[in-house]
Amino acid sequence: MKSLWNDKEASGSEGDPLRLRVYTSRLLGQEPSLVLHGGGNTSVKTTATTLFGDREDLLYIKGSGWDLATIEAAGFAPVQLRVLTRMAELPRLTDTEMVRAQRAAMTDPSAPTPSVEAILHAIIPFTFVDHTHADAVVAISNTPGGEARIREVYQDRVLVVPYVMPGFVLARKVFELSRGLDWSRYEGMVLLHHGIFSWGNDARSSYERMIELVTTAEDYLQKKKAWTAVRRVTSSTAHGVNGVELELARLRREASLLRGAPMIAILDDSAEAAGFAGQPEVASIASRGPLTPDHVIRTKPTPLGVARGQFRFRRSLRRGIPRVFRPPRDAGSEAARPGTPLDGVARRGNRGTRPKCQGCRDCR
Ligand SMILES: [Zn+2]
Repeated sequence: MKSLWNDKEASGSEGDPLRLRVYTSRLLGQEPSLVLHGGGNTSVKTTATTLFGDREDLLYIKGSGWDLATIEAAGFAPVQLRVLTRMAELPRLTDTEMVRAQRAAMTDPSAPTPSVEAILHAIIPFTFVDHTHADAVVAISNTPGGEARIREVYQDRVLVVPYVMPGFVLARKVFELSRGLDWSRYEGMVLLHHGIFSWGNDARSSYERMIELVTTAEDYLQKKKAWTAVRRVTSSTAHGVNGVELELARLRREASLLRGAPMIAILDDSAEAAGFAGQPEVASIASRGPLTPDHVIRTKPTPLGVARGQFRFRRSLRRGIPRVFRPPRDAGSEAARPGTPLDGVARRGNRGTRPKCQGCRDCR
């Protein structure tokens, strides 16, 4: 993975920590293998003068509903840092209480609700903190023996934290693990089955540490031949008026009728997608759930399998709605020839509107 930092682009934000925070957050957001829409979060610690002339430390943390790829300064919520660090010391707190207390500690009531990972960002004693759900890192940690592999990959470069649901419990866990810790000995922190943090006292070093750490994970996967294990097949999908586009349009129509709202259907017949759709065990693999809760936002928990040429859409989709993956009836023959992978059917929304997640707290 390459750093997208550009001195010329960054020069306009020099001396303004929040603008630099916006700049490198967008760099992270441009890379889908780091964060999908709505996932990941970033922060910067600054000092501001209150109405009464007092100086106050603030944490600007990504607000709920903003996408890193398109975030602006208004997408960061300013929260009193001392309140957040004191919250980490509480023995327990429900997530509802936490969200309420975080909102009450905002110095701008019109700012968006702070990320559920705000306390975690607050206790990391560096100016800039970057957090992603990098595919390469979770691919390793989700493998059998994942924790040992992560330690093998990073040695003592990162802190390793067991999986804890994002929110107060995770922040509290990291607070306990890091008591008396010399944070400067570490370049980052891996949250098993969740993602990775990096930090630094300037925007560039925090961002580029993230890129380096993720590149280390990618190199490990390369060494283990993870990329070449991917089955690639040239799709035999026929395009044109009577080809897959017509079938896709029918599927989109039926999905829209069932949903009661206009839907968009997207076709992905890349070699990787066609190879995946044609695997004999595709039903089993595809129904195991996504890599991280982050991916649920985009993909939902389980896909619907529809065999090519058997698009009895309404019936198939009705069966699919209870989130039951049904393998194609002619799965055997699909395996012998490239499948027609339908990437997804999503509700049409305004650009920048995040899909609604029902299943995880990570994306609030
Ligand atoms: Zn996260």
